[in-house]
Amino acid sequence: MSTRVIIAKSIAKIAGPVSKLGSGSGKSFAGIVFSKIAGIDAISELSHELGVGSIILTGTNGKTTTTTLLIKLLSNDIPIRSSFESNTINAIASALIQQKGDVGVFEYGIRNIKYGIPDKVQRIVDPVGVVYTTISPEHAQVAGVKNPFEDYYRAKELLSQGMDKGIIITNCDDPRTAYLGYKKRNDVKITYYGLEVDNISDFFDADIIQCPSCGKELVYEKHFLNHRGVYSCECGFKRPEPDVKLTDIKFTNEKWALTIEGDLYNYPLNENLSFNVEINVPPYGFHNIYNTLASITSYASFTPKAENIESTIKKVFNNLDMSFIPPGRFEVVEYKNKLIGLGQGDNGDAAKINALFMDQFVDGPLEFIYTTPDVDEEEIFEDHFKVIKTLSPAHIIVVPGRKSIEKAEEYYNIIKKEYPDAEFYPLSYDEMAKRIDKLYELATQSDYDYVIMTGCGEEQAMWENIKQKLIKK
Ligand SMILES: [Zn+2]
Repeated sequence: MSTRVIIAKSIAKIAGPVSKLGSGSGKSFAGIVFSKIAGIDAISELSHELGVGSIILTGTNGKTTTTTLLIKLLSNDIPIRSSFESNTINAIASALIQQKGDVGVFEYGIRNIKYGIPDKVQRIVDPVGVVYTTISPEHAQVAGVKNPFEDYYRAKELLSQGMDKGIIITNCDDPRTAYLGYKKRNDVKITYYGLEVDNISDFFDADIIQCPSCGKELVYEKHFLNHRGVYSCECGFKRPEPDVKLTDIKFTNEKWALTIEGDLYNYPLNENLSFNVEINVPPYGFHNIYNTLASITSYASFTPKAENIESTIKKVFNNLDMSFIPPGRFEVVEYKNKLIGLGQGDNGDAAKINALFMDQFVDGPLEFIYTTPDVDEEEIFEDHFKVIKTLSPAHIIVVPGRKSIEKAEEYYNIIKKEYPDAEFYPLSYDEMAKRIDKLYELATQSDYDYVIMTGCGEEQAMWENIKQKLIKK
């Protein structure tokens, strides 16, 4: 390590905690100070201090939950450095500066190429593991710029494209994430995770999904969750076999019993190993099965303690309660005699997952309180409307989820054509406290025993606030 890097690191270490007193860049501050002094490329020297290396997790949905679970698993065996919801390289640098441990676990959100630097992050952090959860279209706009799905997908790909060592861990049931592994199969190890059970299937009408390799329509033999399933294409690309798989699942109201089998390459030990565990988890929804598989696969690939694998997995998952869900994410809350499902559903995939989760509990007429997307987000609205219709709610209430009230009313008018008694509340974004109070009131005063409230909205500022109000009462 050069003198300049050592100096930059020690200044950043002191400056980091000080920044908590002020406002602004918060958890990135130490990284920003370091980059200013030593230059952004010097972050690679911090990264190379790690005895094993860094693991970076990305995807459209599930990355925060998977990161949370992976941290629980790995930190049981060894000290690690970690950061959540880091969308900048400086947040990763801060964790490298302020923490100790031989493995880095970093969540990295990438919206598009313009506002993220995934190839640079790959080059500088030089990860030995890149983990993909699932990829689906999200916001059509980022910071006012059109963000076509091809660019978004390409940005995700750039995070692993330059890798020449380590492992890409990816969901084989999702053709988009599977293809990112498939393309790199000659450069690095690819470890796939997926389902191998018959009692999980989707109730949504299947969308047409294009082959990520040739663009033709994929043929599905099975659908698990939205675009995830067992698929193939006439060009030859098909779902790869999972190395870590769910082989059995038993559902009860209180617990789900999952059997997971794995046979994979372990990076620190440089050898193959296998495991077979049965875990009992809360009935946490199908999407969390994928987050569980992703975290277990990543953990078993990077723990240097092979002998711990089965016992650590059991210890973490058998003691899991729903508090592992990140703030603002969808949850079903009991309120007096009602069941209210609420939380973020910013993209079509997330909203469908919320609907599937809610559907487990619904046993009577349902009210749907829908928070709309914004201007230029018609595609998200279309996906959302499909989700609303699939649940066939007895009543619908529409509220703006983002800034534009006019646009929300436009979306409402489309809904009204099919649901004439739908109601609209033009609540302003700028008066967020009022919007939150009203949403809370609508849910708790509903005439229905089952209420789902989802769509667009600020994760912490809106959803988490409403959730906390509901839980407190
Ligand atoms: Zn194809």
